[in-house]
Amino acid sequence: MKIVIAGAGIGGLATALSLHRAGFSDIVVYERVAELRPLGVGINLLPHAVRELTELGLAAEVEAIAVKPGRLSYFNRHGQPIWSEPRGTEAGYDWPQLSVHRGEFQMLLVDEVRRRLGNDAIRLDSRLAVVEHGERHEFARFARADGEEFEVAADVLVAADGIHSALRAQEYPEDGAPVWSGLVLWRGTATVPAYLDGRTMIMAGDGEQKFVAYPLEGEGEGEGEGEGEGEGMLRLNFIAERRAPEGTRERADWNRPVDPAPIVELFDAWTFDWLDVPATIAAADEILEYPMVDREALPAWRFGGSVLLGDAAHAMYPNGSNGASQAILDARTLAFHLANRVVELEKTAGTTAADPAATTAAIRAALDAYDADRRPATARLLEMTRRLGPERVMQLAYDRAPEGFADIHDVIPAEELQQIADDYKRTAGFHPSTLNERSSLSARLGPREQMAD
Ligand SMILES: Cc1cc2nc3c(=O)[nH]c(=O)nc-3n(C[C@H](O)[C@H](O)[C@H](O)COP(=O)(O)OP(=O)(O)OC[C@H]3O[C@@H](n4cnc5c(N)ncnc54)[C@H](O)[C@@H]3O)c2cc1C
Repeated sequence: MKIVIAGAGIGGLATALSLHRAGFSDIVVYERVAELRPLGVGINLLPHAVRELTELGLAAEVEAIAVKPGRLSYFNRHGQPIWSEPRGTEAGYDWPQLSVHRGEFQMLLVDEVRRRLGNDAIRLDSRLAVVEHGERHEFARFARADGEEFEVAADVLVAADGIHSALRAQEYPEDGAPVWSGLVLWRGTATVPAYLDGRTMIMAGDGEQKFVAYPLEGEGEGEGEGEGEGEGMLRLNFIAERRAPEGTRERADWNRPVDPAPIVELFDAWTFDWLDVPATIAAADEILEYPMVDREALPAWRFGGSVLLGDAAHAMYPNGSNGASQAILDARTLAFHLANRVVELEKTAGTTAADPAATTAAIRAALDAYDADRRPATARLLEMTRRLGPERVMQLAYDRAPEGFADIHDVIPAEELQQIADDYKRTAGFHPSTLNERSSLSARLGPREQMAD
């Protein structure tokens, strides 16, 4: 069975590794850019995604480039504590939460795909342009930067081509540009004095202005001793966020470097006794500006033998830190259903080769099962991120006590805070009680089915 993946981001690479682990071997990833570089800043891999990475045999490699946050704490814009909860194994999960540099993590997945599937498994300078859905096959047309085009036939095409997905635009021409929330994000990394216990992810502020930070390297782990890293210092990932003035036009491209000075000024008053926000922003190596955008939930992700996956299917706001984790869950669920349907088909066919129509039907049933598992789940999550997700506690604190409070429980009862945190985890599929108990998404073709690849 030939499987083509468009996009070598976290979703596409995790799909290649998941399918390979499940026993498929004819897998090629086509990526638009001519050179893969470690772009982006920090992302969080939540315990449900770390479980999948562990089952893919990647736990040690990813942990080696990660920090395991032990707590997540919310504060108001005056630095007063609203809510704090343990994270990862400290919260009772069997798997940790991992904070990683997006680019470093992507490069780790690239190396692993090349090691396991072969050097030729990722083809660069190949932009998916159009997909034709045949009766049995998908015909994907790709374009190179110099204008040359080529076509590839496949049994399954996975469009993991990000928020500006070509397949999504083709199937939903009315979809238009991503939907902008009116908020602007500034992302950066900075080496600063360690704060709190050195392993806490913090969020301060409210729906209008916010600052999020978490360590990307533990104390003293930095390479650049002599440049200020070392004991008592941490490399921090941060996101500063602010509603844009009326009339600002949004641009949905990553990696637009901006001058830190006006952002430092916006956060001028945010010098808490546990973290100096303006000094952190001023210490950034580089600041990237990005409009906070997402996409509407879709009525279907499968078109013939093609499916959408990751941000192509469900780009959502970063609150909740779930984008990469949901893409990894998509990848594992897709491989699970494809492997199970192919095994079932082989059992039914017995010793005779399955007829091509039955194979196509089995593949499409698998893609529908993936859609049924993942599409409603991510639509609920998308809806929740639009209502601020777990960060709703910060907006509530602001609405009820904009100038601050003596004790948060005078403003928001403890039960209400707990309820908001629990609801989000259930919807996102990582409540400890459900995650630890749920069955594995590992599925594997038998030896006979693998020969049929
Ligand atoms: C350059 C970049 C930097 C990012 N930085 C951050 C960050 O700092 N923090 C954060 O939380 N999230 C970041 N994200 C988003 C985050 O990676 C995703 O939300 C999440 O990991 C889901 O991944 P994905 O694979 O679905 O999409 P993406 O990570 O967007 O990957 C999509 C991939 O498809 C490729 N592609 C696009 N169009 C085509 C096409 N037509 N044909 C073939 N290939 C195509 C892209 O070049 C990219 O490699 C970034 C994304 C990108 C592309």
